[in-house]
Amino acid sequence: MGCVFCKKNGETYEYYSTHVLKDNRGKVVCPILRKYTCPTCQATGDSAHTQRHCPLLNAKGFGK
Ligand SMILES: [Zn+2]
Ligand SMILES: [Zn+2]
Repeated sequence: MGCVFCKKNGETYEYYSTHVLKDNRGKVVCPILRKYTCPTCQATGDSAHTQRHCPLLNAKGFGK
C-alpha cells in the first residue's frame, strides 16, 4: 500500500511505503500533505487535502 499522495507525486517506493495518506479515522498522516494548505478553504494538518479534493469546491459543484 503506502501513501497514494506521495506515489502520485513521484516519490520513491522507499519513501511512500513508509506511511499512509490517512489513518482509519480519516486523519491525514502524510507529512507532505499535512504541510499543504488548501488554497480554497485553508484546511491543513489533520484535515489537509488538495484543492481537487476540497469539500468546499465539491459542495459548490466545481468538483470532478
Ligand atoms: Zn505521503
Ligand atoms: Zn479545501
